[in-house]
Order: sequence, then C-alpha cells, then structure tokens
Amino acid sequence: MHLLGTGLLRIAVVGLGAIGSQVLWQLSRRPDVDVHGFESSYPGHPEAGAGGESRLYRNFETDDPAYEPVIHRADALWRELEVATARRLRCPTGVLLTGDHASPQLQRALESADRSGKPSRTLAPDELRVNHPQLAVSDTDIGLWDPQGGVIRPELTVSATVGLATGNGAVVHDFTRVTSVDGAGDGVRVRTSDGARTFDRVVIACGGWTTTLRPDLRDTVVVRRLTSAWFHGEDDDYLRGMVPFMRTAPSYCYGIPAGGGSTIKLGLGFNDHHPVPDPDAVARTPAPEEAERFSWIVDDVLPGLQRRPVRMSTYLESYTTSMHDYIGFDRQLPGVVLLTGFSGHGFKVSPAIGEIGAQLATQGESDIDVGFLRDAPPVFDIVDPETGRTTHNHIVSSRPPET
Ligand SMILES: Cc1cc2nc3c(=O)[nH]c(=O)nc-3n(C[C@H](O)[C@H](O)[C@H](O)COP(=O)(O)OP(=O)(O)OC[C@H]3O[C@@H](n4cnc5c(N)ncnc54)[C@H](O)[C@@H]3O)c2cc1C
Repeated sequence: MHLLGTGLLRIAVVGLGAIGSQVLWQLSRRPDVDVHGFESSYPGHPEAGAGGESRLYRNFETDDPAYEPVIHRADALWRELEVATARRLRCPTGVLLTGDHASPQLQRALESADRSGKPSRTLAPDELRVNHPQLAVSDTDIGLWDPQGGVIRPELTVSATVGLATGNGAVVHDFTRVTSVDGAGDGVRVRTSDGARTFDRVVIACGGWTTTLRPDLRDTVVVRRLTSAWFHGEDDDYLRGMVPFMRTAPSYCYGIPAGGGSTIKLGLGFNDHHPVPDPDAVARTPAPEEAERFSWIVDDVLPGLQRRPVRMSTYLESYTTSMHDYIGFDRQLPGVVLLTGFSGHGFKVSPAIGEIGAQLATQGESDIDVGFLRDAPPVFDIVDPETGRTTHNHIVSSRPPET
C-alpha cells in the first residue's frame, strides 16, 4: 500500500531517542518515503535512555565479534552525521579498557583491536600506573588504549539528528505518546492522544517503554532504571588528565570525566540497576542511600575521589536476556519493525542500527546480516515478567550474586 496517488511509502517511527532519531534521519533521506516521528516528550530530552550528557564510544568489541561490522558501519555514519549537522557529536578523547587480563571481555577486545586495523596500545600494569595514575591497578590488570574512541554527546546527537530529518521533510509529532499500534486493513494503525493515523510500515523504537506499548514482549525484554553518579576528586589535581574508561573485571564499572574535568560520572553494571515494572512510575530522584552502591569504585578503582557524589540521576534502558539487540519484524503485526533491547551499549552503534531499521522497513532486509542477534544464548533469565525481576547477570556484574 502506498499513500494514495503519491507513490510514497508512509512510515511511522515510534520513539525518537537514540535509535528512533537515526531511523528517522535515514528514512528522511529517501525520496520514496513519507516519514512521521512520534515522541512522547521532545527529541533530546534527558529522561529516557539517552540522558546524562555522555556515552562511551568504543571501537573494540568486548562481547561478540559478530557486532564488528555494525561498529564499523556506525563509525562511518557518525562521520557523515557530524559533517551533515556541523556539530561535534563525538569528542575524540580516546577510551581506556581495563581490568583483569584474563577477563573474557578484555581478551575479546584485544582480538577485536587486532582485527580492526585501528590504532591501539596494550598497557602492562606498570604502564597503566604511570599513564593513568588515578586508577588503582593490580598486578593482574592490563589496559587497552583505544585512541580513536571517545565520548558521545547523546542529547545533542538526538536533537541534531532529528533536526536533519525535519530539514529533509520528516514530520515530527513531539509531546505525542503512541498508545497502541495495530493492524488496519493493509496498513498499520498508530493511535496517539491526538487520534489515529494509518501507515504502510511502523518502526517501534521505544527503549524503556517497549513493554508498556507491547506487553507481549515481557518474556523477552526487561527494563531497568540506571543511576549515574558524579564525583569530585579529594583535591583539584586528582582528575587532571583522567580519561574515559571501562573496567571489565573483576567488577564492572565505567567512568567519564565531566564538568570541564572537575568531576567524573560513574556507572555500574546490570545487577546494580533496579527492575522497572512501570517506566512512568519510576522514582526519578535517587535516594541518598543509592550513593552507597558506588562506594566500592572509590575503594577499589578511583581512591582519590570524594566518597559521596555531588549529583545522581536516573535513566531507563531495555535489555534482552542475551544482552544482544532485538532487531526484527514483529511476530504478530506485519509491517512493524521492532528495535529494542540495546542492553546498555546501543548509543555507539545507533547510526548503524538506524540504517538497518530503515532498510528493514523499506526493503525487508538489511545490508548487514543481524541474524547473529537471535542466536545469542541467554546470560540471565526473567524470573517475573510483571516486575522485570531477573536472575544474576554475570556478564557486566558490579557485584557477586546474592547468596
Ligand atoms: C546510564 C546509561 C549509560 C549508558 N552508557 C552507554 C555508553 O557508554 N555507550 C553506549 O553505546 N551506550 C550506552 N548506553 C545505552 C544507550 O544509551 C541505549 O542503548 C540507547 O539510548 C537506547 O536507545 P533507544 O532508542 O532504544 O531508547 P531511548 O534512547 O530511551 O529512546 C526511546 C524514546 O522513545 C520515546 N518513547 C517511549 N515510548 C513512547 C511512545 N509510546 N510514544 C512515543 N514516544 C515514546 C521515549 O521518550 C524516548 O525518547 C547507556 C544507557 C544508559 C541508560
């Protein structure tokens, strides 16, 4: 079905966050598509999965080598996006991966660096101590320096990308929540508070609200509330020269310098994030006790930080049980593409996922084969689909299982 008399394919994108904004941009570039984007807030708002001012951009894959073509394509599209928007969306600071040398994630990243053809440098414990004096380093730790890694500006990326799309003719319905997506004859009906419209295809990219719109996915996707916390150093010099880092093992965490270098934003792993039964009822202001969950980072990783954060904020993210993205056609509704479950790593690859989503919606297949996502084994189980409670996830674990 095409828009009567125009020959255009009418496509709706539901959710204009990290992924939906990129799908919108890709579709807006196609002369054969009339694209509408629906966003319950505004593009670039800070309350979903794309808030918090920074995201790590890493070139080396820590989990599954099959992601590497996606990362390489994303890098090319990031460059295109930065030229087209004339904005610096990624800051080229370099990124340090560190942790126990035997950690599977670090080992996979080393192999990924070798395959990538991109510059990289492996650091022995003594070099780590000299080059990154803020970090407490044990004799079994190593570092992998990714000089072409950096820090993404997530909210700016979303708003600038949607701006590009509207410049190309995309129609954006902001402050418009989609309440249902269902079949309507040959097409797909999208209902919002403003009424219903029918499209030829719909791309759903709702992040933390996926299971609100599609409760049938509660056995596959869970939503978590993530807390980020910003810390000052004990003195003004401590964070000088600090680089963004991700520590894989023995306990997972990451840090991104912020505030002109005076603070660092710290993040934890999956098991330290709260399950979310209803994203609209989430406590947005973290309780002061939540700061305690970061104490081990001050004790074990960055001992020159003040013990208490100066700021904490919460965000929402969707996870699949395999921690591999859910990308594909809706099992129940023909014409609907689902893009969800980016499991804490979706921003760096968002331009490539946007292209894949746009290709699936228009052509029914994508240039990059994402079949590997479906074959990935689970790393946790969903214990209670209603509350989103899961078993322990050992892949990105900031703490051991509770006994
Ligand atoms: C704290 C934190 C740190 C992270 N760190 C990194 C990192 O360092 N590197 C990295 O690559 N990734 C990182 N990620 C992951 C990355 O940010 C997410 O994977 C990505 O934002 C997910 O994109 P999304 O489009 O699925 O969801 P979102 O970005 O949350 O977008 C979903 C959008 O849909 C809208 N929406 C929802 N329901 C509806 C509806 N019914 N109708 C209309 N609009 C709707 C929402 O308002 C929102 O704007 C991190 C995530 C978090 C939360």
